[in-house]
Amino acid sequence: MSAATSLGAPDRRPPLERLLRRDDFTRTLAPFVRGVFGDIDGIALFDHGGVVFCHVGEGESPMAHWDQLPPEAHAVLRGSERSFGLGEHQFAVRSCFAGADRVGTLVFSIPASSRDHARLAAIADGLVGVVGALLQAGFATWVTSEMHLAASESNFRALQQRNTELERAIAHLHEVDQLKSNFLATVSHELRTPLTSIIGFSEMLARGIAGPLNEEQTEYASTILERGEELLRLITQILEMSKMEMGTMRLHLEPVALLDIVERAFSAASIPAERARVDLRHELDFALAPVLVDADKVQQVLVNLISNAIKFNRPEGEVLVRAELAPMQRPMDEDFFGEEIADALRVSVSDTGIGIPEDQLGRIFDAFYQVDSSSTREHGGAGLGLSIVRKLIEAHGGEVWAESSMGQGTTFHFTLPLATTEIA
Ligand code: ADP
Repeated sequence: MSAATSLGAPDRRPPLERLLRRDDFTRTLAPFVRGVFGDIDGIALFDHGGVVFCHVGEGESPMAHWDQLPPEAHAVLRGSERSFGLGEHQFAVRSCFAGADRVGTLVFSIPASSRDHARLAAIADGLVGVVGALLQAGFATWVTSEMHLAASESNFRALQQRNTELERAIAHLHEVDQLKSNFLATVSHELRTPLTSIIGFSEMLARGIAGPLNEEQTEYASTILERGEELLRLITQILEMSKMEMGTMRLHLEPVALLDIVERAFSAASIPAERARVDLRHELDFALAPVLVDADKVQQVLVNLISNAIKFNRPEGEVLVRAELAPMQRPMDEDFFGEEIADALRVSVSDTGIGIPEDQLGRIFDAFYQVDSSSTREHGGAGLGLSIVRKLIEAHGGEVWAESSMGQGTTFHFTLPLATTEIA
């Protein structure tokens, strides 16, 4: 077994060009040999094919025209290790090794008349040692680079395989995700029907429609009603979310005045606002251009944002809704330039609440994400509201983002297309 195989590198012999730099041979070694041993007129390195790899001499050496040499000379040059005379020249032939492999043949020629004739064998033995050392160093580099190559190839193959596996896993996850959405949609739908009855009947009980209740009984019925409504909100959110994920949500776009939608959202949020002693306010201009939106969906966006703004507010705090003309796409960085076309309304919902830490601002829009996810957290919710908000706004071609100052309040901004804007 060769050294190369035992190291795990491919079992093939390196070409001479990979072991010895042409410049080292022709510019360093050959001039040195010819300078020190003046009579040497040819030095060449043959590879396995017998091809001359390098040579020196000014044309007088037969090695410049080695392919014109008689066949016997070729046989000797390729094979045996000896000195021989041919015509006007004397040759010395030496085998060169790299690792355990014979990789080439070194040949020197000297005119038959030279005084160095007798020393040729000794010179050849010395120089083959030098060339051998160079080849050996080249061989070590070659083995290293081959091993590196083999390792890279095998890494690449492993990565390709991993990639295929990952693609399969992703496809599977998509399937499972779709199944999950279908399942959630069905279950939520089925849960809603009995829950509506629970809410309806507990409300009748609490209001005394089915007969008078004592104070304690009224309190129990009201708790059932409140919890039932909470549960219904949650189930509605899950249903909404799965509908969006299944791609079955349809928008009914029409030009509407934002003010109308805000007022409807305020009235939907009025009870919790009153309970939390939070003031709902808007600064909307009556002359504001209409937006081209699905009014129910935008109302849902506002109700979600306003509910959060109430939930995370302080007593006697306030929620303020504003709007102004703005470009549809928010400039992402300071390098943004070019004409800004005000083709959208930028709506802002601000509160005077607890705020959101800077590093969480990007994550709050993820489904089920909550800044305080501990079991002892103060506020209820499933972490779905903002993710629904984002999906609804993006379905309109807009964007939503938040800015916040801890302890002072949070503002959510979102953009909506104006009724004059073309919708793709
Ligand atoms: P949840 O049902 O938990 O409110 P959301 O998706 O609506 O779910 O909000 C995700 C999280 O973002 C909330 O749990 C809360 O931590 C944070 N958050 C949302 N709105 C506000 C706000 N106005 N002020 C402070 N924190 C907020």
